[in-house]
Amino acid sequence: MKANREWIIKGIALAVWIGILISSGIAFAQHRQYKETVVLGEGVTQVKTLGDYFEPIKGTTNDCNIYILDSGVPGGTLLIMAAVHAEEPATNLAAQLIVENAGVTTGRVLVAIHENRSASTVTRPGDAYPQFYTVKTEWGEKKFRMGDRWANPLDSWPDPETYVHYPSGQMLAYMDTRNMNRTWPGRANGSLAEQTSYAFMRLIEQENVSLTIDLHEAELEYPIIGTIVAHQGALNVAAMASMMLTAQEFPIGMEISPLALHGLSHREIGDYSNSPCILLESPEPFLDRVRGVTDEALLLTGKDEFVMKAGEKGLLYWPIDENGWSIDIRVARHVRTVEKLTELWTRFHADTAMVFSGLPSYEEMVDNGVGHYFTDPATVSANRLAFE
Ligand SMILES: [Zn+2]
Repeated sequence: MKANREWIIKGIALAVWIGILISSGIAFAQHRQYKETVVLGEGVTQVKTLGDYFEPIKGTTNDCNIYILDSGVPGGTLLIMAAVHAEEPATNLAAQLIVENAGVTTGRVLVAIHENRSASTVTRPGDAYPQFYTVKTEWGEKKFRMGDRWANPLDSWPDPETYVHYPSGQMLAYMDTRNMNRTWPGRANGSLAEQTSYAFMRLIEQENVSLTIDLHEAELEYPIIGTIVAHQGALNVAAMASMMLTAQEFPIGMEISPLALHGLSHREIGDYSNSPCILLESPEPFLDRVRGVTDEALLLTGKDEFVMKAGEKGLLYWPIDENGWSIDIRVARHVRTVEKLTELWTRFHADTAMVFSGLPSYEEMVDNGVGHYFTDPATVSANRLAFE
């Protein structure tokens, strides 16, 4: 009789366990397969994919869209890369805002909204990350995938004991073989992230890119925050942008890319191509270790009393108060900094000029919110839609 009851309890426990496995498996699959919709703005003249520049990437998870905004007027080429770390949502939102709204009057602008697509197909369930977030627009809610810092192990497995960066030989943590900001300049037969970096280097070569901008966000406990990190090939542009933006619009620092720290975009892209690279960081309290509840609200508002407390104790490298750091401000910082850097690049390099038109001002983006700049996909024809 007692033995029977034990078996019943074990049976129920097994059934509950299988139920959890199935329901979480379905949730993971739905997240991985969800496609974000992008409305091609009037400035978009062509959509290629990364695999067009390096065949082995074709058809893989990381064969991301490359949006081309070509003015038809000779000039330089700007490459904007976003969401290399897919848990930094202001980056892909800023890139998508540019794709949906920007015009270009001189030169060309190339945009990758999900630079490491694989990383946007997985989150950190162990850290209680939400799988999705939604942005309010005038026509309803627009849904996006939250992601992770590293490519999905489903696409890139197994990790090595130690990740040895190619070609420097610098030793890094094992999981950084999936971190695309540690795999530049990449290698043709390496891990998925290394191959993706390699493919972007071929894109930079084949499209004769003049300047590359890599968008990021960081925790306030991290010293590289609210700043522009520049390769030595673009120091004048970065320093001038930092001074002008800080004096006129919002505070943003400037740092020089360290020479001996390998695998990062702002170091290797400039060293291995003709395009200097500039990396931008905005403040994302969601990433702070000391944060409270890790939910969509924190992701979007950047308000957190525990992070604020850490600030009071002098533990942060960036200020925070009860207003937090909203997604609208973070996106506005990125879009404006990209535009300012481009403007200054053109001033210093008239032969590779690149000029944006139609981008909203910092105040407009903060006041209207990022959702204001996304077009209702239902109002455009199917050939003006793309999926991420
Ligand atoms: Zn990052």
